[in-house]
Amino acid sequence: MIRMVEVDKYFGQLHVLKNITLEVPRGQVVVVLGPSGSGKSTLCRAINRLEPINSGLIEIDGRPLPAEGKELANLRADVGMVFQSFNLFAHKTIVDNVMLAPLKVRKTPKADARRTAMELLERVGIANQAEKYPAQLSGGQQQRAAIARALAMRPKVMLFDEPTSALDPEMINEVLDVMSTLAAEGMTMLVVTHEMGFARNAANRVLFMSDGDIVEDATPNEFFTAPKSARAKDFLSKIL
Ligand code: ATP
Ligand code: MG
Repeated sequence: MIRMVEVDKYFGQLHVLKNITLEVPRGQVVVVLGPSGSGKSTLCRAINRLEPINSGLIEIDGRPLPAEGKELANLRADVGMVFQSFNLFAHKTIVDNVMLAPLKVRKTPKADARRTAMELLERVGIANQAEKYPAQLSGGQQQRAAIARALAMRPKVMLFDEPTSALDPEMINEVLDVMSTLAAEGMTMLVVTHEMGFARNAANRVLFMSDGDIVEDATPNEFFTAPKSARAKDFLSKIL
């Protein structure tokens, strides 16, 4: 579903993705761990081309990433992304936020877009917040709205970059619960997170990044019980 072959990315002199080769099959849930600055966000952003790469190949569902234009918009529609900051449109209601991309990109009729948006808000447990504006919701509710908005495009893959890092502790679980449900339903997911409980329980696979490399690629059980590299051991000793 996601295929990266020998991907390199530089910011000036800084080599932030070093010859990354990675395949994520359909339905797999991959958690990406690693210290700050190791390239986790850049990896996510490269996958939906928010960051251009310098060399290598990235494919989604067998199709190479187009560089620009309508094809890129279509590909982005296949790859949902949820960020740490919820990025909702402040001047639109929650349901309008969820409807926006299907209306604009997919040209979905308004009544259909609205019905789908309400179903998705129901699924993430905030249908009763539909007519409010983002600032009137809690952080956890806003993040669930952001997930619903990404799902509205019926993506083939969902990318999450630290979706719970900006949340107060009591709101983290409501977002992780939605993500765990998605995972159990078979969504292909790449999740950057510091939530080790989610990594242990919901992931099929853990990638550990360090300095632009994927230095471990293991099952959660293998990774947490017997990390191979010194860098992963050091990382785990600091967070567990
Ligand atoms: P964190 O856990 O802090 O979010 P990360 O693993 O997501 O870190 P990235 O954001 O991918 O790390 O950054 C990888 C490296 O690239 C870092 O050294 C960072 O400073 C650098 N970097 C990221 N974005 C840019 C940019 N737009 N311009 C220049 N350097 C950048
Ligand atoms: Mg990051």
